[in-house]
Amino acid sequence: MQASKIPTQVLVVGAGIAGASVAYALAQRNIPVTVIESNHIASGGSGNPVVVIRPEPGGEHNPITTLTTLGMQWLVQWLALHGQAIPHELCGAIRMTRDALRHQKLAQHAAHYAAEWIAEVSQEQANQLSANKVADKGFHLPVAGWIEPIPFVQSLLTHARIQVQVGVKVTQLQFDEKYVATITLSDGSVRNADCVILASAFSDTLFSSSLAIDSARGQLTILPEKVGRTLDKIICRDGYITPAIRGIHTIGATIQKDDAYSEARTTDDQENFQRLQRLLPEFCLDMSECQSGRVAFRAVTQDRLPAVGRLAEGLYATLAHGSRGMTCAPWCGEWLASMIVGEAAPELEQWREILNPLRLVLQ
Ligand SMILES: Cc1cc2nc3c(=O)[nH]c(=O)nc-3n(C[C@H](O)[C@H](O)[C@H](O)COP(=O)(O)OP(=O)(O)OC[C@H]3O[C@@H](n4cnc5c(N)ncnc54)[C@H](O)[C@@H]3O)c2cc1C
Repeated sequence: MQASKIPTQVLVVGAGIAGASVAYALAQRNIPVTVIESNHIASGGSGNPVVVIRPEPGGEHNPITTLTTLGMQWLVQWLALHGQAIPHELCGAIRMTRDALRHQKLAQHAAHYAAEWIAEVSQEQANQLSANKVADKGFHLPVAGWIEPIPFVQSLLTHARIQVQVGVKVTQLQFDEKYVATITLSDGSVRNADCVILASAFSDTLFSSSLAIDSARGQLTILPEKVGRTLDKIICRDGYITPAIRGIHTIGATIQKDDAYSEARTTDDQENFQRLQRLLPEFCLDMSECQSGRVAFRAVTQDRLPAVGRLAEGLYATLAHGSRGMTCAPWCGEWLASMIVGEAAPELEQWREILNPLRLVLQ
């Protein structure tokens, strides 16, 4: 393995969950970091009012299952130590499957895990756990929960060794023969760093090759809490509904590839309302109770894994966190920081290949 040179000044492009996480992990290692954000903190996908965090049960050799498990373990520990001021709750989730075959596969998987992590539940048990009437039997994920991502990002970025500059875009990036980067900003100013990390969600012109990262629009729908209508767990399958948080249930989310429309659409709320019927058929029968929620854009890859790792000498990426950025990007930030400074973690060596951003280079 190549010996790492510990950087003396890092520049991170983008102040969402991914950028804040890697900045924080490096700052924790005493490395000064500057984060440049073209808009404002958590203005992209990371600006949703509430997101669900949960492991994705799959199979023993499913990288998404392992990554979400690592991500949840990291988050649960971090929140226990530092998360007192960040609104969140590990209320647990009921995860249903699309059909009987998938349920059977997941049941085999669940049998190998402790019930504190995943347990098969009958419809009756799921009803009792959630305090509502769910559509089907499923799996209880006790460690799942929700979190408000904006305070999470803000909290990471308040680290003493992190400087944040908002309202300026990184427009150009050039490395000299000693791999020192000159970074040009949209206000005409120039900065230098010996390590640059792209955390801009999408592949952009700052790297010489294009990466196969697509955009998938998503719209949330919200449902105000109602007296006598309780929900104690997140209920999920191909979407989710949260318990009432500050008097609001969040229903998510639509997925539309290559759709750049940034305003809310009634048809999307209808789609989310149908999603709700497939999760909790008796919860709300009147669509007029629903309101449009936020629209944002996920950066997605074909294998549904993010692009995290080295792009070139001095240049790294934590991009394309898709639909699971809150669950996985914080752990990815920690792992990327450990890789940059050359900390040995042999049991994590496999992730270099699995998450390698160069796997997405378009020929
Ligand atoms: C509707 C919806 C629901 C979701 N629900 C969940 C959920 O329940 N659970 C979950 O885990 N995930 C969820 N996600 C996914 C999650 O929100 C994303 O994976 C996550 O926010 C990605 O974070 P990020 O930091 O990579 O990207 P972003 O938050 O998009 O941040 C990238 C930042 O980079 C900035 N930027 C870009 N280019 C430049 C430049 N050249 N110079 C300076 N700044 C730049 C942008 O302004 C932006 O702020 C959801 C996403 C959507 C759209």
